[in-house]
Amino acid sequence: MKYHVATFGCQMNEADSQRLASELEKLGLRATDNRAEADVLVLNTCVVRQGAEDKALSYLNMIKPLKQRNPNVVVGVMGCLVGVRGNTPLKRAFPWVDVFMAPSDPAPMVDFLLQREGKRLADEETQARFALQDNAAPELRFRLPAHEVGKRVSVNVPVVYGCSHACTFCIIPFRRGVERSRPLGEIVAEVRDLVAQGVKEVTLLGQIVDRYGYDLLGEDYAIKRYNPGAASGIPSQNIPIHTPLVDLLQAVNDIEGLERVRFLTSHPNWMTDELLDAVRALPKVMPHIEVPVQAGDDEVLLRMRRGYTSDDYRRLVERIRAKIPNVAIATDIIVGFCGETEAQFMRTYELLEELRLDVVHLAKYSPRPHTLAAREYADDVPEAEKERRFRLLEAQHERITREINQQYLDRTVEVLVEGKHKGKWRGRTPQNKLVFFEDESRNWLGQLAQVKITWAGAWSLQGTVQAQPQETERERALVASA
Ligand code: SAH
Repeated sequence: MKYHVATFGCQMNEADSQRLASELEKLGLRATDNRAEADVLVLNTCVVRQGAEDKALSYLNMIKPLKQRNPNVVVGVMGCLVGVRGNTPLKRAFPWVDVFMAPSDPAPMVDFLLQREGKRLADEETQARFALQDNAAPELRFRLPAHEVGKRVSVNVPVVYGCSHACTFCIIPFRRGVERSRPLGEIVAEVRDLVAQGVKEVTLLGQIVDRYGYDLLGEDYAIKRYNPGAASGIPSQNIPIHTPLVDLLQAVNDIEGLERVRFLTSHPNWMTDELLDAVRALPKVMPHIEVPVQAGDDEVLLRMRRGYTSDDYRRLVERIRAKIPNVAIATDIIVGFCGETEAQFMRTYELLEELRLDVVHLAKYSPRPHTLAAREYADDVPEAEKERRFRLLEAQHERITREINQQYLDRTVEVLVEGKHKGKWRGRTPQNKLVFFEDESRNWLGQLAQVKITWAGAWSLQGTVQAQPQETERERALVASA
């Protein structure tokens, strides 16, 4: 039997799809790129903006004929369109879908297949296959699709499910449920499994990944650590207690055979000095921080309930840059949030001009059901104006990123090679910059290459591979700062 998983949305969804694939592989199914030949067809969905939800619904309508032609095809819908509480209207609208799965939960599909396939295909071959899969490599709890073993270099690993912050624009807490951290030992075991299958880099994921582990330590601990910005009106309690994500980074850093560790997305209020010090000190943890600001105006930030001011964010960026040499910082921005005036938007523009961040993920505000903003504020910035603001920031970002990337010209960077694209090797620097280089002399997949940059655009770099391994930028920086 073959399965096909189509994934929309964020890295968390990609990770959830891989988790589902792992379970299907254990049942003996194999992946196919061709959805028309799949026996099990799953759509993993995103609803963060209306556009994403529309895309999911039109995909479902598009695959309906496949199901009509062959009713034996098992169709599953997973992710934020379904949500943790189930979505009854969705089930009514798509009665031909066999299985609905909450985000990060492949169990309903596994149960369905075991029940149905166990009966329908209860021949010796199937029984043998199910049995075999259970015995094949019991030490591997997490499996890559068979065709990716030894070929997939970088994998996303969820470490915190859900979110309990409730930003006023955001639907995620409603669809992914309350914040739940995975136990450290379980994550480490999973990363070991991945490394055994050839993986060299993991990105630890959470909606607020820098809150990892506080929930495991008990309510009180988490609340005490909360250090909202002045704008929130909640008094700051800067109680210097231990950051559990540091333990996790340390443990993952120690896994032999793993080359690189990243983590995202961070919330500004939880980026402790202890965490930044760990990023600097742990050799496998890359100098790459994703910390969304969302807006540069304090009133907008307050209405978003982000819990910090633009000055808090400025200070955070300063702190990150002071602590981590050659760090790259990425952010997210929403333009056209409810009530955002031209002057308020310009404060976002000016903040980005001042901070010169490496990556800016842009989005136009889209009202989402159940959120406070959708219930209480008017979506009063016209679409054309949202589009104009989006384009302005997009052009600004392209200019700034190009300028930042120019600084890499003639420098040698260390690239972890992830694959080949149109005859060129493709990989990433410690700062997560995309690099292409040509070299037919050897197989670079999964290797670290020293690449001298010869061309720098806004979205990628190109270079030539250096014959001799050199001291890397990061090592140099560490030595210089020691
Ligand atoms: N947990 C992360 C973000 C997850 S969603 C955080 O706290 O920042 C990814 C991005 O989608 C957000 O950072 C935000 O920029 C964008 N986004 C979320 N809800 C949105 C909405 N209603 N309209 C437009 N963009 C939205």
